[in-house]
This record gives sequence, C-alpha cells and structure tokens, in this order.
Amino acid sequence: MDETLLMLPGPTNVAPRVLNAIAKNVVNHRSAIFGEIYTETTELMSKLFKTENNSYLITGSGTAAMEAAIANVTAKDDEILNVIGGKFGERLRDITKAHGGKVNELNIEWGTAVTAQQIKDALDENENIKAVSVVHNETSTGVATDIKAIGKVMDNYDALYIVDTVSSLGGDYVDVDKYKIDICFTGSQKCLAAPPGMAAITLSDDAWKVVDSVDSNTYYLDLKKYRKSGAGTPPETPYTPSVTLIYGIYEALKMIEEEGLDKRIVRHETAAKATREAAKALGLELFPQEEVSSTTVTAIKMPKGVSDSDLRGTMRNDYKVELAGGQDHLKGNIFRIGHMGNITYKQLAITFSSLAMTLKRLGFDVDLGAGVCAVNDTYM
Ligand SMILES: *Cc1c(COP(=O)(O)O)cnc(C)c1O
Repeated sequence: MDETLLMLPGPTNVAPRVLNAIAKNVVNHRSAIFGEIYTETTELMSKLFKTENNSYLITGSGTAAMEAAIANVTAKDDEILNVIGGKFGERLRDITKAHGGKVNELNIEWGTAVTAQQIKDALDENENIKAVSVVHNETSTGVATDIKAIGKVMDNYDALYIVDTVSSLGGDYVDVDKYKIDICFTGSQKCLAAPPGMAAITLSDDAWKVVDSVDSNTYYLDLKKYRKSGAGTPPETPYTPSVTLIYGIYEALKMIEEEGLDKRIVRHETAAKATREAAKALGLELFPQEEVSSTTVTAIKMPKGVSDSDLRGTMRNDYKVELAGGQDHLKGNIFRIGHMGNITYKQLAITFSSLAMTLKRLGFDVDLGAGVCAVNDTYM
C-alpha cells in the first residue's frame, strides 16, 4: 500500500473509517434501503451547507457540480458575471461559454480577492446580469473570498448568487442561507476527506424558479431530474449513482458531525496559520496577499534557483510527501500545500521537516528546524 502523505488541495487523505465504510455490499439504488442512506446523506449535506433547502448528490467530480450550477440557469445569450482570480474562476467562465451564456468577466489579480464593492459596481453597470459566479476558495492561488460580504450586496439584486465551495465547505465558514447564496456546490475529495468522485449541490427557491424557466441543454446534469427523483418514494437519483462513494461521503459527513463543524474550521485555521508561519520561517514567501489567504491551501513562491520537479520530486520520492504545483502561468513559480480534510499537527510536522531537508539538499540555505519550530509555536 502506498503510504504517501497527501498534502494536496484534493484528493485528501481518507480516514480508515471511511475506507471501511465503502467496503460494503452494493445495494439496489432503487430500493428503500438505498433511499434511506440517500436521504440521510443529503440531509447531512444540507446541514453542512447550512441551508433549509434540499441537497442533491451528483456522481462526478466537483466540475460536474460546477457545470450543473451554470448549465441549469443559463439560456443562450444570458449574461453571467464570472469573477476570475484563478483557474477555477476561469473554469466557471469556460462552462458559461460552453452553455451559450454571454460572459462578463470580472478579472482580479491572481493572489488577491474580489471585494463586495467590485461586484456591486459590476452589477450596477449591467442590469442584465442574471447570475454571478464566485469561487469561495480559489484553490489555484490560495485565496479565500469574503462570500458573506458579497452576499449582503447580492441580496439587493435579482441576479443569482452562485458560489463554488469545492475546496472550502467543511474547512471554512460557509452559511448558504445566511449569505443568501442561491446555488452552492462542493466535491467529495477536498475538505470532506472522502474519496474523489462525488459532488453535491443545493439550490434556493429563487434558483429553482430560474431553473424551471430555462430550457437547459444538459442531460446528465439536468437538476430538474435530480429534484424529481430526490422527492420520489423511495428518494433516489435519476441515474445509477456511485452507491459505494455515497457510503463514503456519508461516513465522512458523520465524522464531521462528530468533530463539530466549528471545531473543524478552527482546526483548519490553525493548520493554515502553522503552514504560513513555517513557510516564512524557512525563508519562503507566500504567494497571495496574507490578509486573504485560504484556510485550506497555502500557495508559496518557488524559491529562486529551485525547480518545481526538484522540490516536489524530492518531497515525493525521498520523503513520501505529495505537494501540489502551480497551474498555468504559475506553473514552476509556486507550489501549494493543502491542509484540508484530516490534517493536524502531525502531518504538518512531517511536511515541514521534509521540506527543510529538501531545500537544504537543493542548496538552499535553511535552518533545518525552523519550519517545524514555527509549526510547534502555532500549536502550543
Ligand atoms: C477541485 C476544485 C473544483 C473541482 O475540481 P474536480 O477536479 O472536478 O473535483 C472546483 N472548484 C474548486 C475551487 C476546486 O478546488
């Protein structure tokens, strides 16, 4: 068995308890017994989203939910405002295009966060904006956006508020009803610490009104079908779901309940702080503005003279710690440490101990104990 430690922004390390839960008999997905686990899982999802509305499970990765969110509310030439400050903002824009929407880009510098005022200005400038897509935690840059403040603005406009919480739900504060989010979605393999392959989505009444008015050009992701099947007796999904992965996500959600969401978020905040402090103690520079840095993933500038393949290759091959690289123009310029899901002091101590040895071996002048010491200081 590969014992590599995943310090990634997904997939994250899956607890043995969750792995055991998926090693169960596959049941008929059109049976009362499946209906029960489906209902319990979607109820736990709604609780995690902090919404009174129903949640739906989609077999597919987070991108399936991104596409469901956009495709179901976008008719040809509908104007959508896509906030773009990284890869995932771009992906929501590309999906909008793919479904015939008219894209309005709100581009912000990668490493910074969009402000509520910028969104207000964009909405005032174009009254035809039908929906706004925001990435809560831009995984590619390690930036967290103030989705609560944006929600206060969105409340004054008819445009739907679509928020990608794929790399934040279960690791940062998300309150769908309070923040007035109309469509919110997540994936299984990030902060939930379940295996990859499942996504979940929830919609407000306002969002459903729009869904009902749009003749969507998606088939597998047609949310009207998910709503109908979810309300059936027994409740079910329109097509065969990954029954096995639903066992996994259910168990992962139970674990979140047992830990307590608030405690879990504080654990993520502590891990994020320890990571930032340890990186700085090793003489590394953070990529994003520190005030908007993510609680679930930290992006760090690649030190001069060190290549991505040397740094991450050494970490992987010699220390069995998997870090993430940069994407697109950030490739080779940053690396990312995911600290989402089950990460605690233990994994960070190993990560920064290995990172210091790696940097030293690559000729970087570094105090071998400095990173771990900063981690310790944060946790003391
Ligand atoms: C990971 C991620 C997604 C979805 O990616 P998949 O690889 O399809 O699961 C979407 N948005 C954000 C912010 C993500 O981090």
